[in-house]
Amino acid sequence: MSPETLVPASLDAAGTPFSTEAFDQFVMTSYGRFPLALVRGAGSRVWDSEGREYLDFVAGIATCTLGHAHPAMVEAVTQQIQTLHHVSNLYYIPAQGELAQWLVEHSCADRVFFCNSGAEANEGAIKLARKYAHTVLGIQDPVILTANASFHGRTLATITATGQPKYQQNFSPLVPGFHYVPYNDFGALEAAIAQIDQAERRVAAILLEPLQGEGGVRPGDREYFQRVRQLCDEKGILLILDEVQVGMGRTGHYWGYEALGIEPDIFTSAKGLGGGIPIGATLCKAFCDVFKPGDHASTFGGNPFVCAVALSICRTLEQDNLLANVQARGEQLRAGLRAIAAQRPDQIAEVRGWGLINGLELKGDIELTSLDVVKGAIAEGLLLVPAGPKVVRFVPPLIVTAAEIDQALEILERTLAAL
Ligand SMILES: *Cc1c(COP(=O)(O)O)cnc(C)c1O
Repeated sequence: MSPETLVPASLDAAGTPFSTEAFDQFVMTSYGRFPLALVRGAGSRVWDSEGREYLDFVAGIATCTLGHAHPAMVEAVTQQIQTLHHVSNLYYIPAQGELAQWLVEHSCADRVFFCNSGAEANEGAIKLARKYAHTVLGIQDPVILTANASFHGRTLATITATGQPKYQQNFSPLVPGFHYVPYNDFGALEAAIAQIDQAERRVAAILLEPLQGEGGVRPGDREYFQRVRQLCDEKGILLILDEVQVGMGRTGHYWGYEALGIEPDIFTSAKGLGGGIPIGATLCKAFCDVFKPGDHASTFGGNPFVCAVALSICRTLEQDNLLANVQARGEQLRAGLRAIAAQRPDQIAEVRGWGLINGLELKGDIELTSLDVVKGAIAEGLLLVPAGPKVVRFVPPLIVTAAEIDQALEILERTLAAL
């Protein structure tokens, strides 16, 4: 399939041009959107309603694992929608069992609970940790530690877990039982636990991202995470890792915790798991049996449709050896970004990341923001997404090619030169 054959149809079959004004009249104003409507995709490329082509290094925010219109995904979607799409968890769902088996066989988890999003997966993890604290550890008032600059979702419990006041503003009262610590700082973590012990409360769990995505593409420090794991073992604290953005191969490993050389007690997945179909998962070691029938549920969670599609993503990841591509393309991208950074020390402070989640941090003492770079890149035909005011994030599909990485680097160079 050559890109030339993929000129998109108009959004509206009648030929009415897409109108952002009409859209904004009917859709709630909770998002700040870029003024373009994407209507078609193939591989790592998308087209807008005007027929313009973009290289997609956003991938639906680190979600479209196999890019757009991948044959394996198209086949799974088509086959399952024609067979059975939803029945509820009143019944056994074979595809749910198969997907859970794949996940268990490719991770440190023993069992899986399926839901529909990252926030919901983290809600499940929080409920599971609390039930374990109450029923096994005998803690009446459990505290969960999370990190500053973290991101765990937009429900009330997960904005509370998120250590960024901007997401919590005007939504109080928040959910009790959370306490924040600086990321990658073991001394501060120990001090916080001692302080909470003194107040005669108890830390039941620590919830961390292996690499902070939204908070600025900040990789976890290996030594820090290994010490946290050891401390959790000594004190009987659960270690929960939020793998919503970095799991499912994005780091060049199936799971981000593999890059840190540790295993969590509970972890969560969502974004890349369904390749863009809404699905989330809470994964846990055997103690998850504290959940009894009726304790936790989701009407849509793990339905035949999403599980069949997610299975096609998992199997393709494995069969096509995409982890090797993620590692190679990630190295190529970081090398290219570092070369650009070396040419532009006045604009760029740092390049960092793992596999195909990478960040370009702009100098703090200049006016240029990540949003300026993202807008400039869109005008040049490259989709990027900010991770905070100063970091530009690169999260292409895991099938991205060497030529596409080179093209993205060329466009970025042109964009930065024009700013
Ligand atoms: C995106 C994200 C979430 C929230 O996922 P939703 O599907 O938007 O609810 C949670 N944690 C991390 C690390 C994320 O990147």
